[in-house]
Amino acid sequence: MNESILLLPSLDKINAKLLVLNGAISLLTTLRAYDEALDLAERLIALDPGATGTRTQCHGLAAKAELNFKLGNSQLAESLVPQAVLACDASKEHMASLIVKSFVAIDLVDAGQYAKGITTSLTLVQQFQTVGTGSNWLAAVEEALARAYLKTGNMERAEHFGTLAYDRAQLAKDLEWQEKTSETMAAIKQAQGQLAAAIAYYQTNLAFKKKVLNDQQQKNLAYQRVKFETQDKANQMALLEQKNKTLSTEKALQQNEYQNLILLLTLGAVVLAILGAWLFNTLRLKNMFRVSAQVDGLTQVSNRAHFTACAQAAFNDAASSVSLVLFDMDFFKKINDTYGHPAGDWVLKTVCTTVKDQLQTADCLGRLGGEEFALCLPNSSDEKAAALAERCRAAIAAVDTHPSGFDFSITASFGIATRKAHEASSFEETLVAADKALYFSKNEGRNRVTVYQHSGAY
Ligand code: GH3
Ligand code: MG
Ligand code: MG
Repeated sequence: MNESILLLPSLDKINAKLLVLNGAISLLTTLRAYDEALDLAERLIALDPGATGTRTQCHGLAAKAELNFKLGNSQLAESLVPQAVLACDASKEHMASLIVKSFVAIDLVDAGQYAKGITTSLTLVQQFQTVGTGSNWLAAVEEALARAYLKTGNMERAEHFGTLAYDRAQLAKDLEWQEKTSETMAAIKQAQGQLAAAIAYYQTNLAFKKKVLNDQQQKNLAYQRVKFETQDKANQMALLEQKNKTLSTEKALQQNEYQNLILLLTLGAVVLAILGAWLFNTLRLKNMFRVSAQVDGLTQVSNRAHFTACAQAAFNDAASSVSLVLFDMDFFKKINDTYGHPAGDWVLKTVCTTVKDQLQTADCLGRLGGEEFALCLPNSSDEKAAALAERCRAAIAAVDTHPSGFDFSITASFGIATRKAHEASSFEETLVAADKALYFSKNEGRNRVTVYQHSGAY
């Protein structure tokens, strides 16, 4: 029943819904679960709201009226009857109409209005003959009639309707009505003074009472168990659904977090890449500027300022003996004048690469200006410096100038001065000394190496 009710929303035929709800209402009524049955009756009425005279209205209102009679709300029940009868008559549900009317007739008898009850019931019994005598409600009306006649002292009529009702209930094997009609018959027989028959009916009645109780108990137990199981199932479903929801929410959250993380990482990577590129560019530019600020554009050796800084650093190490080698191209003006300035430039560049080939890594070569260059040699001596200068001189003199476009010879003059370890002379003083030695080389005929001597004799 519960499963059928759960299926209700998916049924589109109103008649199918009516069938399901009607079945459920009658089952719940049998189980005396009147409140639950009432809920379903309301659902039945609500199936086509606003409509009158439909089958659903008829059965819904009929059920509502019957249940209210059973709950003892006679006033409310009676007020529903005219509407229910109208709906049932309009929808040609004649049996249902009769049943609704039966409630009223039986209620009249139950309420002690025997005369009115008898009139109403007799009319109904006649109407049942035309519509159908198979209904339990006919037995119910006859039973009510029997009781009314019993109360009013018409024993013959009481017995007549009592027996009719009893036989009908027996035929239908309806425990509840068998129980009820046997009790009425017992009372009638007792009133008639037929005590043996009365006892027999009472015994029958007792047996039915037991059966009814058992039946009801079993039905109720079964119903409660199913109800509990259904509720448990529903709870488990709800729990599962909730779990699912939580899981999917968690998943969505995780997904979101993951996406956010990816986004953050991507953003971070982009920012890092931009920063890296910017840093790389800045460093490259800075390096370029630094190098261009230190290097002579033509010869790519240190310019005067950078050479001075390098040499100063070497001179600052008091423990080191530092040699300075100055050299100046001989008759360079003549080269310019004879072969042109570009040839002169070529000579300057070639001389620098030639000299660089002779140097150690710690040695520093700088262009002091024009065609004058200097070497700073840390951890050196006059002898070592002289030997190096001699190699440079020879290498310059051996330069093949053919690639410049002209064939001519080039030479340079060298002057050397050394600041020995722990000597007081400064870079500037040593430079002046080296310059003096260079001057001496020029004077002595050029293309030579001169080491500065304190004595002034070279
Ligand atoms: P000395 O042997 O006495 O040193 O004679 P010199 O001709 O080499 O000396 P001087 O100082 O008279 O001439 C140097 C010349 O070097 C003058 C100048 O035009 C030239 N010069 C200076 N810088 C450059 C340069 O960058 N490129 C070229 N091609 N020539 C330069
Ligand atoms: Mg010169
Ligand atoms: Mg010069």
